[in-house]
Amino acid sequence: MKIGFIGLGNMGAPMAANLVKAGHDVTGFDMAAVTVEGATMAGSAAEAVRGADVVITMLPNGQILRAVAAEVIPAMTLGAAFVDCSTVDVESAKAVAEQAEEAGLLAVDAPVSGGIGGAAAGTLTFMAGGSDAAFDKAKPLFDIMGQKAVHCGAAGAGQAAKICNNMILGVTMIATCEAFALADKLGLDRQKMFDVVSTSSGYSWSMNAYCPAPGVGPQSPADNGYRPGFAAELMLKDLRLSQQAAASADADTPMGQLAEALYAQFVESEDGKGMDFSAMLPRFEKRGRG
Ligand code: NAD
Repeated sequence: MKIGFIGLGNMGAPMAANLVKAGHDVTGFDMAAVTVEGATMAGSAAEAVRGADVVITMLPNGQILRAVAAEVIPAMTLGAAFVDCSTVDVESAKAVAEQAEEAGLLAVDAPVSGGIGGAAAGTLTFMAGGSDAAFDKAKPLFDIMGQKAVHCGAAGAGQAAKICNNMILGVTMIATCEAFALADKLGLDRQKMFDVVSTSSGYSWSMNAYCPAPGVGPQSPADNGYRPGFAAELMLKDLRLSQQAAASADADTPMGQLAEALYAQFVESEDGKGMDFSAMLPRFEKRGRG
């Protein structure tokens, strides 16, 4: 397939690399001049999508997605699919899908879970919203970049699933980090803490697959000075999306609300900017109860 790939950051670059490895013809574009081995690099987003069967975007937020979509949709071939894998608000996902469909394209919102490790290994989970035809067209590519693709419903349903998933992630990462900091203060060895919790009822993806303690558990950003990975700013973005969605749906999400407030404090008034979201652990380490 001929694929246009826009947004080659921490996630997009390894996802595009896997499509190249599987033999697809990938043309990429990123505002920051990055390259992906084996892919052709275009000078603009519109150039990257010309003649493509499928266009994939992996961008920071809904505003940027809307701007990129406005540029590329008119340049896309009739019948091609616009597949957005970024995490954005449900409204932007729906608006872009509508715009794509009006232009005679197929559209899927397909945010992912699994982090940069999953992107590199091709083991992401895709949660997709859109028509059956759109999902079917994108599915072979999801199968290369991921291990599972769930068709969640109509346009926006993928983003709804993602927002709920990441609200759980934010809450469990905070819980895991504060538990490690408490364990430290109780004199418990971190490796022992991991050995127990990772096989007990406190286990979670945050503990087992992305352990926030350096030198413990699988390789994670904690072993790399907390360089992202999944940046704390992006977690804050997702928690804000979840609270925005909860407000508009009148859902009671007190833990999500607390997690949003804590990540906001961490990113905006402490030293969380530019750090991985698991750097909540050194944050808790430094603090007492007062
Ligand atoms: P990133 O900041 O590393 O990558 C985003 C890329 O988009 C950057 O390379 C940037 O230069 C490029 N970009 C920005 N504006 C552009 C434009 N107008 N045209 C072309 N390129 C543009 O972010 P990331 O970690 O790769 O995340 C991308 C998306 O995936 C986000 O929506 C994020 O929430 C989501 N996500 C990230 C992770 C993770 O672990 N990093 C996991 C799941 C989902």
